[in-house]
Amino acid sequence: MNNLSQVAEIIKGAKRPLLCGHIMPDGDSLGSVLALGLGLRRLGKEVTMVSSDPIPEVYLFLPGVEEITVGHLPERDYDLLIVLDCSVKDRPGPLVLPLLERDLPVAILDHHVNDHPFGNYNYIHTRAAATGEIVMDLLDLLQVDLVLDIAVNLYTAIVTDTGSFRYENTTPGTHQKVARLIDHGVPVSKLSNLIFGEQPLESIRLMEVALGTLELSECGQIAWMSITQEQIQRVGAEDQHVDGLINYPRKIKGVELAIVFRELGSNLVKVSFRSKYKVDVNLLAGTFGGGGHVRASGCTIEADLAKVKDEVLKEAHRLLRGC
Ligand code: 5GP
Ligand code: MN
Ligand code: MN
Repeated sequence: MNNLSQVAEIIKGAKRPLLCGHIMPDGDSLGSVLALGLGLRRLGKEVTMVSSDPIPEVYLFLPGVEEITVGHLPERDYDLLIVLDCSVKDRPGPLVLPLLERDLPVAILDHHVNDHPFGNYNYIHTRAAATGEIVMDLLDLLQVDLVLDIAVNLYTAIVTDTGSFRYENTTPGTHQKVARLIDHGVPVSKLSNLIFGEQPLESIRLMEVALGTLELSECGQIAWMSITQEQIQRVGAEDQHVDGLINYPRKIKGVELAIVFRELGSNLVKVSFRSKYKVDVNLLAGTFGGGGHVRASGCTIEADLAKVKDEVLKEAHRLLRGC
């Protein structure tokens, strides 16, 4: 592992960096890529930003988002790959995977628990609420001004990963950083509306369908929902509209562990986990090959929906003994 100054030096030395986040990009992944990308441009670097998956509609307002190349890799003579908000090889997605076979150096900035990040230079800070916090420290080290476009991206990264500063990962440092961003002119209530206050109709229709599948364990501590491809298509939604649905089972009084099963294909299921006080969902996702954080994690399992539900719920009940 490296410290942030070491990674900052490596980044300073790069002329043509390629930046990416993770598949199914979220606010932290996109906000971090854009804040760093725009920041490095201000230092005169030839920056390329890519995403394996499409940008969810809700994030299309982010300053600079139109400069992220989606789904294909521009042919350029990159001299550094900077991976943000993930540190396991499969998370950046199919676009970036072939690059890892070349001898392009890789720098990773992440806040997920991972003792074996795949980069040549790795800065993993698990107490950072969002990768955006790390990027902000890095931009300070690189002496990049937090101009409004950068500040908006950093704010979005932090506000999404902290659930508007409500989750356990929020620290005094998080608030201090955000205070600085607001000082730089971030329009807080406008962004709250754009990110949380306005949902596409498809998301609401999907919520209606998903809530119909809500189940609760006998002990009342585990709540889960499942969403099939057929349901997504029936309401004219897309995978991006599933994001955030897990907050509903999580909200139920007495629920410690919330789970959403999302069918990705006939034999492929994405599972999301959230916990409130006790269950280490990073470990839980880890038993199925995934990961994340103590209170928010996920994994993708190759099996049909019924089998995945059966296995995951068995493990969940085992973890919450007496449930
Ligand atoms: P979500 O449920 O919102 O997709 O993800 C919650 C958290 O778990 C995020 O921090 C995300 O990065 C992580 N996560 C989700 N799916 C996976 C996965 O398949 N593998 C790993 N390592 N982390 C995941
Ligand atoms: Mn993320
Ligand atoms: Mn994150």
